[in-house]
Amino acid sequence: MGIDVKKTQKYYNSITTDDLCSCNYCKNYYFQVKSAYPLVANYLASIGVDIQKPFEISPLEPDTNGILEYCTCQYIVFGKYQTFHSHKVENVEFRIATSFPDTGIDDEHFVLELYPIRLKYVVYK
Ligand SMILES: [Zn+2]
Repeated sequence: MGIDVKKTQKYYNSITTDDLCSCNYCKNYYFQVKSAYPLVANYLASIGVDIQKPFEISPLEPDTNGILEYCTCQYIVFGKYQTFHSHKVENVEFRIATSFPDTGIDDEHFVLELYPIRLKYVVYK
């Protein structure tokens, strides 16, 4: 069976910006990640995932060049992951997450994580 793309799409469509964390590190991710990593965004879209609606992201501190690295970015995906193979897109590694907060979802799903994502740090108001 594999990934349930339709169900995953439906889930992401149901998430609004009110559901997302509004801290600046997270906003920095939502606003830039799609244009900075178009192939990663396309890959995620192909399995029904909206790159701008992560389940959990872990930012480090911005470095001296103003680059902010996110060491793990996790996404909920519906379906089974037996068919999922770890791989890289644009030097971003994808794998199945083994450690994540409770998703509160009963239907069959798994958490996909990708890393690292590096973005210029901008303060959004
Ligand atoms: Zn946040």
